[in-house]
Amino acid sequence: MLVGIPKEIKNHEYRIGMTPAGVRELVAAGHQVLIEHNGGAAIGLTDAMYEAAGASIVDTAQEVFSRAELIVKVKEPQPIECRMLSPGQVLFTYLHLAPDPEQARLLIESQAIAIAYETVTDSHHGLPLLAPMSEVAGRMAIQAGAHCLEKAQGGLGMLLGGVPGVAPAKVVVIGGGVVGTNAARMALGLGADVTILDRSLTRLKELDALYGPALKTLYSTTETLEQEVTAADLVIGAVLIPGAAAPKLVTRAMLGRMKKGAVLVDVAIDQGGCFETSRATTHQQPTYVEEGVIHYCVANMPGGVARTSTFALTNATLPYVLALASKGYRQALQDDVHFRNGLNIHRGQVTHQAVARALGYGY
Ligand code: NAD
Repeated sequence: MLVGIPKEIKNHEYRIGMTPAGVRELVAAGHQVLIEHNGGAAIGLTDAMYEAAGASIVDTAQEVFSRAELIVKVKEPQPIECRMLSPGQVLFTYLHLAPDPEQARLLIESQAIAIAYETVTDSHHGLPLLAPMSEVAGRMAIQAGAHCLEKAQGGLGMLLGGVPGVAPAKVVVIGGGVVGTNAARMALGLGADVTILDRSLTRLKELDALYGPALKTLYSTTETLEQEVTAADLVIGAVLIPGAAAPKLVTRAMLGRMKKGAVLVDVAIDQGGCFETSRATTHQQPTYVEEGVIHYCVANMPGGVARTSTFALTNATLPYVLALASKGYRQALQDDVHFRNGLNIHRGQVTHQAVARALGYGY
């Protein structure tokens, strides 16, 4: 099959849909790959690397879209990209259609087949193509939080791990899923005093088994949240209620009782945020201060480490891309019920129940 990978055009997006190593696997399986010129250049993945892996480089996105049977991307297609899709062409990327009726309309009009990374499931009730970005964001949350705690950033002026004879910072992670676990792991690695809260006792037991007494686990109630957040130096918001806006677990009143110069990193901001005072920020201007507490609420954290994120994403998507290319989309989706959950739009029809409901289409 002819697989096409255009350069991402969304503002400040430097990731690319596939690494040269992924291209090499596709070529070894007998497929052809087209890469748009300089598609990965911003993160050190040069045209020469892609050519060495067996890809052909083309000058424009138009050439990729007009020739490839399968398009592999990172971000949702921008309007100009939607208009380049053709009937029956397969698009595999993050779509996040529920809040984006304009994109849905353009994809319906295109008569293409749109498969969304974020709705592919696995047998453990997980989202295997969303997980790599949650891993990145969770780990990055501690890096970002540690930086914000420095005095020059307005923070408390604390080192997360302390030094011999000086206590470490107190890190509180709300939500023990993929983001929270990765944040806790990084904070523990730096020597911080880490507590994680979750509403799932099963999850708390798993975390306890994984990290032992180094990690404190607490069942999440208003009482435990209040007690932990008001004593914290750094709080990471990492909750998710699937399909719903994040619950506002930390109120402005609670914030008023926190230390001045403490830091909140709200990773759940892409679902509206779990702090009452959160509002989305960007990598260009990542923080603001409310009630003397620094807020870091970047909505696309993985974009800040575009190189790592690209490798993590290809590791997760490659088996699915290989299945689509080798079997054709019909057979690939027929063979795997979890992969089938990724199908959002098929030749003018919205085919994913939750997405259709959110957009107000009949299902
Ligand atoms: P996940 O489903 O793996 O984990 C969420 C956890 O939150 C679960 O363990 C759940 O039990 C817990 N939870 C739910 N309600 C709770 C409550 N009241 N108190 C404590 N815990 C509660 O989800 P995830 O992959 O870790 O993602 C977490 C959030 O991070 C999501 O909103 C996701 O979209 C977001 N995210 C943001 C970025 C970014 O760039 N900002 C990147 C990746 C993920």
